[in-house]
Amino acid sequence: MAILKNSYRDSLSDKFYSDQLPTPVENPETICFNPELAETLELPKELSNPELAIEYLSGKEVLKGTHPIAQAYAGHQFGQFTMLGDGRAILLGEQVVEDDRFDIQLKGAGVTKYSRRGDGRATLSSMLREYLMSEAMFHLGINTTRSLAVMKTGEPVYREQVNDGAVLTRIAKSHIRVGSFEYARYYTDELEAFTKYVIERHDADLLGHENYAIEFLKSVMNRQIDLIVDWMRVGFIHGVMNTDNMSIAGETIDYGPCAFMNAYQPKTVFSSIDRQGRYAFGNQPHIAHWNLAILANSLLPLIHTDEKVAVAQAEEVIQSFPQEYTEKYQHMMRQKLGLVKAEHSDQQLVEDLLNLLEKHKVDYTNFFTSLRFQSIEEKLQSDAEFKAWHSRWREAFNRTNNQSEGSVLMEQSNPIIIPRNHLVEDVLKRATEGDMSPFNALMIKLSNPYKPQESQLVPSEFDQSYQTFCGT
Ligand code: AMP
Ligand code: MG
Repeated sequence: MAILKNSYRDSLSDKFYSDQLPTPVENPETICFNPELAETLELPKELSNPELAIEYLSGKEVLKGTHPIAQAYAGHQFGQFTMLGDGRAILLGEQVVEDDRFDIQLKGAGVTKYSRRGDGRATLSSMLREYLMSEAMFHLGINTTRSLAVMKTGEPVYREQVNDGAVLTRIAKSHIRVGSFEYARYYTDELEAFTKYVIERHDADLLGHENYAIEFLKSVMNRQIDLIVDWMRVGFIHGVMNTDNMSIAGETIDYGPCAFMNAYQPKTVFSSIDRQGRYAFGNQPHIAHWNLAILANSLLPLIHTDEKVAVAQAEEVIQSFPQEYTEKYQHMMRQKLGLVKAEHSDQQLVEDLLNLLEKHKVDYTNFFTSLRFQSIEEKLQSDAEFKAWHSRWREAFNRTNNQSEGSVLMEQSNPIIIPRNHLVEDVLKRATEGDMSPFNALMIKLSNPYKPQESQLVPSEFDQSYQTFCGT
């Protein structure tokens, strides 16, 4: 019996993948390893013992009996339809733990059929960045792919400068994307077989449903709304929400130019290529909605044989997005404010607060921390408008006779520690110089983000010139 499964390869036609071994590297070295995740996944010793894993998680060796693949997909990148695929990622296989199935993928493992002009490789800095950000999201309690290891390849990677190369082992519920459905719709006649495979994997309870495609669309939409609400809760900016970077399983995926917002400014963009602000913090719900419309369009032939009927049914689902999102967003914001009993006026309270935070450029995370600990952010202390807001909030907070419940809500929804941009850049710089201790120390802090501790101070002006990059 093979150590890893590969239901994707076993169930789908080879239009959906190409067999692809990682390109071996000469002198791999373990830079970081996640033993706790290896244990949760009950991985075989070849992938869980750091000594043995060097060979397998760098791509030097391949586990016997496995059939690694690169997956084919398409996607809308900044609104433009493109043919894509794993250009530098290779799926080693799937690990099944009880009822859960996890993809084990090497990112930066060499060229594939889908590499186009790329080199199939990744820099140490960007793979460590993904490791840190994805694990931070996990500890924040947000659905995400996870990171098992970063192995230095011992080979150079050429970008603007020469960098150390590295391979990241990424763990995901699957790597099936909205773009995978676009591919199935346009490049194969196997949309139905593909959709049934995905439903069996992610939404098995929908299988017997008469209109499984529309139910699947609703299910993906619900997961996506929950995910975006969580991003908005902690100030996460994905940075490149192309349809190929949106997981059907509702996990945060593809940590390229992502970053956390400090001062509350919905227009915040850090990605160097996002000049129009398409993927700005405040635009994320709108883009998720747009991406779901693309998914709906791909599913049309399965929704109804009469295209008009199919379009009407799909539109009905897609049009319900704004209301469903708003309800969940409002619920989340009430929790951030510790409001146990919902009232109509809460929406205005939230809106007024966000306007004040934006106007005074207040740190989003630290504001909620101070509210949680009954203090007031310096920038707001002498503001009359804020004082008025604060007494309205206090009244709303005291509406219930169970204030301790409100405090618990605040504690659970307001992190104190997030991966601040200046800290992330600093530990990555030190790591590329060979010193992993600051990276490891930050990782420890990020693994307990809600614990009462000192708030993080952000150097003023840092974000004004801060830029993040794709595909490094
Ligand atoms: P992204 O927007 O980072 O998710 O990447 C978009 C596409 O570019 C995906 O199909 C990637 O596999 C591909 N890609 C990114 N970097 C490289 C690289 N260095 N070599 C080959 N393909 C790449
Ligand atoms: Mg991608």
